[in-house]
Order: sequence, then structure tokens, then C-alpha cells
Amino acid sequence: MLVDSHCHLDDERFKDDLPDVLKRAGEAGIDYMQTICTQKADFPVIHKMALEHSNIFCSYGIHPHHADTDMVSEEEIIAHGKLDKVIGIGETGLDYYYDNSDRKAQQESFRRHLRAARTLDLPVIIHTRDADADTIAILDEAKREGGNRLLLHCFSSTLELAEYAVANGIYLSASGIVTFKTADVLREAFKIVPPELLLVETDAPYLAPVPLRGKRCEPAFTATTAAFVADLKGMSLEDLAAVTTRNFFHLFSKAKQV
Ligand SMILES: [Zn+2]
Ligand SMILES: [Zn+2]
Repeated sequence: MLVDSHCHLDDERFKDDLPDVLKRAGEAGIDYMQTICTQKADFPVIHKMALEHSNIFCSYGIHPHHADTDMVSEEEIIAHGKLDKVIGIGETGLDYYYDNSDRKAQQESFRRHLRAARTLDLPVIIHTRDADADTIAILDEAKREGGNRLLLHCFSSTLELAEYAVANGIYLSASGIVTFKTADVLREAFKIVPPELLLVETDAPYLAPVPLRGKRCEPAFTATTAAFVADLKGMSLEDLAAVTTRNFFHLFSKAKQV
């Protein structure tokens, strides 16, 4: 059994064949998925999907790309976080690689998600790219305010940020990026992550793992990434699947297995 901890099932690339996508996920042993919210307007569709499928959970949050045009209040996050099947807050964070959104707005939005998640006692799904120093500064600040349960999704940052995460009990999720030929540094980073802090995901429809790279990614591909990570960690696929599934339900403790 595996969990795709992070995918975007509302993406228009799934609109014609979602039932087939879900069927293939089941056949590949992906028993649960979390579909992630990135902007306010998308939430109703995401939430409906989660309510209609017992094995799909969802999150509520605004992606850093949309932080300045889609600023969310703590109250809005709290109200949505209380809904059935909403198990995590995000994805939020900082993306200075694309810089699609004003950096000050990204930081403010990130802080609001952290505070609201603390009130809700839900974990925060963090997207961070080329923004290690500011990510660490904001997380240190959150720690001083009382702390959060945290996940660095689609982890693709430096060894330094991986070390910070491990030292602070922050979960790290591996996506297809870890299989890319050029990702040697990232593979080194994942080697220091204890199995107890490890999750797997697709970030579908993006980032299909090798040898499927270039295709539309879908939750079934979690199995390919999981097999790769098991190999990297010197574990059997069975053990990797068991520990990452246990970690998922421990971190996202509002999610109930059916
Ligand atoms: Zn992301
Ligand atoms: Zn995402």
C-alpha cells in the first residue's frame, strides 16, 4: 500500500479521464491520495472530489505563485480547515525561482497559513524553491510562536535545508525529481533523511519520474518513485511503502483509513 501525499487531481489535464486515472492508481497499489489546493477558486472542485471518494483527501491553501493576487485571511483558512476531508493546510511557502508573486506577499501568506494551521492543529504543506534562507527564518519564527507540524513537499532544495528539517522533525516528501539524472545533490540530501520523516508523492500532473519523464504524471507513478527511493535508502519496497504510509497517517492525523 502506498499514499500519493501530493497531487493535483483538479488539473485540466485530468478532466477527460479522471476515473481511469483513479483506477490505474488503485491497480498500482496507491490506496490513498491527497489532492492539493493552490487557489481559492479551485477549492470547491477539490473538496467535492474528496467528499465523493473515500480514498481521496484534500488540503486548503494558496500557492506562493498566487499569494499577491489571491491573498487569504487566517479566518478563511481556519473556516476551510475545519471542513470534512480537509486534512492539511497548503500548499504555501516561498518560490523565488519563478517569482510569480511579490516576495513580501508570499512571506505574509506563508505566515498566515502557519498561524491558522496552528490554531487548527493541522500540518502545513510547504512549497519552497530557491528560498532556503527565508524559509528557515519564517519557520524559526513559527517555532518561537509555538510551532507547527510541517512537511516540505516535493523536496528539491539543498542539503542544508534537509539537515534543518531533520533536526526539527519536519517531514520531507520525495517526488519524481529524485529520479532525474541531474539530481545527484538531491539524492545525497535524501540519504540523510530518516525513514520516519519520509513521504512520497507525484505532484501530478507534473514531474513524472524516470523512465516515465515527459509523460503526464498521475498518482499511479508514485510506485515508480517509491521503488527508486527504497533503492536509494537500501530498503525493500514493502518496508518503504509501510513506513511512508504510516508517516502519512501520523502527520495528517485527521485522515482516517477506510
Ligand atoms: Zn509545490
Ligand atoms: Zn503541488
